[in-house]
Amino acid sequence: MCLAHILSNNSFKLNLYFRQSNPSFSDKIRDIRYCLRRNNMTIEMTFFCTQCGTKLSGKKPCRNCGFDIHSDMPYGDISPIGAGGYGFSDAVDDPRYAGYQGNKRKYIILFALILIIIIPAFLLLSGDLILDTEGITVIAVVSTMFILIAASAIRSTQRRGLEWTGSVVDKRLIGGKLNGPRLIVKRDNGKMIELPFKDNLVQYEYYKIGDVIKQHNKPNLRTLEKLDKRTDEILFCPSCAYLCDTRDNYCQACGSPLLKGK
Ligand SMILES: [Zn+2]
Ligand SMILES: [Zn+2]
Repeated sequence: MCLAHILSNNSFKLNLYFRQSNPSFSDKIRDIRYCLRRNNMTIEMTFFCTQCGTKLSGKKPCRNCGFDIHSDMPYGDISPIGAGGYGFSDAVDDPRYAGYQGNKRKYIILFALILIIIIPAFLLLSGDLILDTEGITVIAVVSTMFILIAASAIRSTQRRGLEWTGSVVDKRLIGGKLNGPRLIVKRDNGKMIELPFKDNLVQYEYYKIGDVIKQHNKPNLRTLEKLDKRTDEILFCPSCAYLCDTRDNYCQACGSPLLKGK
């Protein structure tokens, strides 16, 4: 059974998949990542120790705490159930989130610069553009366009928005003006909103009707967090949305702290 097919066919089956008692949950996570990867939907990434956040070198155990994610039973006999804890995390002000967003901004700038250099260079070399007044105008317009796109992408990494708490009152897969998987949420101020999960059915399945949730909206951290994570076996990285195990403290892909309760 391949999860990517389940996802594309019917997200309710995903729920059943998660409820199967065998195999072990780490195997399920591995299986999910494997399926997604095989379908080019994600790449397995292990760059950071999931227990202390130290950068790993290759497949060696963590040099800081000794944790070895590549071993057969990295968590020993600790159950993922209960490991997520209860309560909204107080890790939201951790400076590592700023580090992640800072890297993202660097990549945006680098990408924009490459486009600004490569596109005019390509047009000039292919002879489609010559360096006369018109050619220079074209280059200026194209460059300005990329600079504006990059500036708006950078701004969106720094925007501070509304923070709220609320509860999931319903979940719908189709219909409505958003037409796709979405949570119907009642905010604490009484306002009803719809949260779309168009591209992420795994996250859609993660939230259940009745869950109390919080929207964090800080300059370097915009993510949803569930109040009660005690019955879950998975967590999503608040920075890069990587699928993590509740026994992890840090995202293995980007090193950001995971939001866990007590
Ligand atoms: Zn470590
Ligand atoms: Zn991450």
